[in-house]
Amino acid sequence: SLTDKSFDPIKDAPYERHQHIPFSLVAHACQIIEECKGEKSQDLVKEILANVFRTAICLKPAELIPLFYFFICRLGPEYEGIETGVGNEMVVNAVTQACGKSKTKIREEVKKIGDLGTVAAESKGSIKSLASFFKPKTPKIDKSMTVLRVFETFMSIAKRKGSSSVGDKTNSIMKLFTDSKPEEVKYIIRWLEGHLKIGAAEKTVVSALARAFTYTPGDPKNFPPSILNYRKKKGETRFNEREAELDETIKEAVCVFPNYDKMIEALLELGDSHVEELPKKCYMRVGIPVKPMLAKPTTGVNVILKRFDGIKFTCEYKYDGFRGQIHYQKQDPDDPTKKKIGIFSRNLENMTETYPDAIQYLSENVDEKVDNFIIDCEIVPYDIRNKKILPFQLLTTRSRKNVDIKDVEIQVCLFLFDILYLNDQNDIIKKTFKERRDIMKATFPEEEGKLMYAVSKDAEKFEEIEEFLNDSIKDSCEGLMVKTLEENSTYHPSKRSFNWLKLKKDYLETSLGDSLDLVVVGADYGKGKRTGFYGSFLFACFDEDAEVFQTLVKAGTGFTDEDLKKMHEVLNELETTDPDPRIKYKEKNIDTWFTPKLVLEIKAADLTISPTYMAAHGRGEEDKGISLRFPRFIRVRDDKKPEDCSTSDQIYSMYRSQQAVAQNDICFDDY
Ligand code: ATP
Repeated sequence: SLTDKSFDPIKDAPYERHQHIPFSLVAHACQIIEECKGEKSQDLVKEILANVFRTAICLKPAELIPLFYFFICRLGPEYEGIETGVGNEMVVNAVTQACGKSKTKIREEVKKIGDLGTVAAESKGSIKSLASFFKPKTPKIDKSMTVLRVFETFMSIAKRKGSSSVGDKTNSIMKLFTDSKPEEVKYIIRWLEGHLKIGAAEKTVVSALARAFTYTPGDPKNFPPSILNYRKKKGETRFNEREAELDETIKEAVCVFPNYDKMIEALLELGDSHVEELPKKCYMRVGIPVKPMLAKPTTGVNVILKRFDGIKFTCEYKYDGFRGQIHYQKQDPDDPTKKKIGIFSRNLENMTETYPDAIQYLSENVDEKVDNFIIDCEIVPYDIRNKKILPFQLLTTRSRKNVDIKDVEIQVCLFLFDILYLNDQNDIIKKTFKERRDIMKATFPEEEGKLMYAVSKDAEKFEEIEEFLNDSIKDSCEGLMVKTLEENSTYHPSKRSFNWLKLKKDYLETSLGDSLDLVVVGADYGKGKRTGFYGSFLFACFDEDAEVFQTLVKAGTGFTDEDLKKMHEVLNELETTDPDPRIKYKEKNIDTWFTPKLVLEIKAADLTISPTYMAAHGRGEEDKGISLRFPRFIRVRDDKKPEDCSTSDQIYSMYRSQQAVAQNDICFDDY
């Protein structure tokens, strides 16, 4: 069985070496993971996924790549932005046409059951039984669905562009529906909707990959005669250690090289005995975005002084724009007559086409001696004539794709604050921030309104920092970023680090130090002026370990009528009668639930222990969660996925530091 630690893909599975991975294996794995109800053991989920991956390694190693991507609901590296472009409407249409039910009926069933995948599977089941009743029995031709076929169909759907592609895409989905078994349909439809709903987020899927490679070495030439013997030979303890090491190695490599295709290829090539060499194959390079370093919030200057007591630090303006990681290669490998320049967002999205003005500036102004680099900066709208930063909202109307430089009305300035890579040296991130800053300044000369360094001051005293904070606000910034300069000042990709503290003026009067980005998971219908819209919303944070959304607060303040209208348009599509299994809640009376998708920025006065909410449950007080007081809507964060919202660790950490500040004792929990 797939849940079994001693599962042997060669002996226990009814498959033959070199056969394509049947999709029924994936559907079966999803089904058993879904059936682990209650407090689902993440280890069991990992075990099941690992056994599926091990089967692929044994049968057809190359198919491990599409298999892995299926479980994380993607078609390739995030930064390549390959998407099917299939919305809920298209999936419903395909299901409607394939099973012959009316759209209203399908929608009604989805409202009742809360999941289009299940509705599609049930509809498919009923078609099949009717068909078998009428059809004479003929010998069956095995047309079983394979992982490769499902993945290739998704890929071909993604490649079809333009409005005329709608029919083709719908037909491809219908064909998959027709050729799959009901239990397979369920997960194909869910995948197309963007979530398998089995409670296995990317982190778990990656850990399962590590387990799979630990049990089953990648290189087929080196297969041990029996997996069981192999495990016995290595011993259980050694095996656990190896799994943990590999898990860590993969996760670290992903931060600087978020390309699972190449990483899995490397793992397969290296085999069991050389996996520690993974960083030699998967390292930082131009063209592949690095997961950016993030900052911890702080509640005041005294907190900073206590944190950095005896440590050299610097304060920088915290610009309010969009994070830009710029990759530059003097000679494009595909066309050496051209430069290759790319800009990636905080979430590794390729934003190159959004900023043709910045691209043009860099292509004309980078010194000839510079071959390549990766820099970290904030992209800010700027009024060159008046030498003034403009509100970031002016940039939100720019299209993401195909922006023509002639249409750019509001120019951007790049405020540089770090350098990660220069002239093929990929160990720059290991240098101190002081050294990196010197390298950055020596490489890029400033130009007013085009490329400037983040204004900084190596302040030390309370009054100096306060004054600099006020200057930053006067200069249209959000506050300060305070960073260690020498000791503990290397660049940590992907880490939310205590070596970078953010001090937002706006939040100083609260005891939180920052706003929160929360997922809307439910709502009550509006009354009076809000009739026809939602009146208040139920928000949740994300628990990274259990991979669930924990409710935190209900809020209805701060929304304009226009906001409520937009919110209704987006959320209406996400309504479910029953809560999504990933939502952890105690609310009994809530009018409707939503599939967790929409992230909103919420400001609040402070955090409080609550018997009703589930955020950081049991950590502040036994059997209680944490909630917010006086929550207020600020804006929609459509640059964040639900899993990128504030985590329960962050909420608990903020709660602890709030308690500590109240008692005049500042604490730092390093999560
Ligand atoms: P998160 O902390 O989750 O990234 P967020 O996206 O809301 O939350 P902020 O809380 O605004 O980000 O703070 C971090 C961001 O501030 C950085 O990602 C970067 O875009 C921006 N920023 C502006 N100025 C600087 C600076 N001088 N150094 C580093 N980051 C800066």
